[in-house]
Amino acid sequence: MKISHIEHLGIAVKSIEEALPYYENVLGLKCYNIETVEDQKVRTAFLKVGDTKIELLEPTSPDSTIAKFIEKKGVGVHHIAYAVEDGVANALAECEEKGIQLIDKAPRKGAEGLSIAFLHPKSTQGVLTELCES
Ligand code: ZN
Repeated sequence: MKISHIEHLGIAVKSIEEALPYYENVLGLKCYNIETVEDQKVRTAFLKVGDTKIELLEPTSPDSTIAKFIEKKGVGVHHIAYAVEDGVANALAECEEKGIQLIDKAPRKGAEGLSIAFLHPKSTQGVLTELCES
């Protein structure tokens, strides 16, 4: 596959409102979008850092995967998302062929309407990895 850049870093937070002042007032980044992804039970806030974004992930329900992540590991880096140039479906097929365990067998719609898919951290050196269209 061909990766063009890191599309975003996903960071688990308990509260976007509590986390944003650090990103905006200390790091000087600007939040340009907040949206809820209902089926993921998560609220997301996006900030730009050059070509890369920071995606803050706040659970909207105790059974959200983000809530479970925070319970187990605390707040912090949750996943890394790479922008792939020849489509997420092609990248997934290549990963499967190379024996990588997939969380998503087919691309689905993530935040910002992008086509995305996750690879299992068991197969990716411990880092939850997202592929998304560039
Ligand atoms: Zn993400």
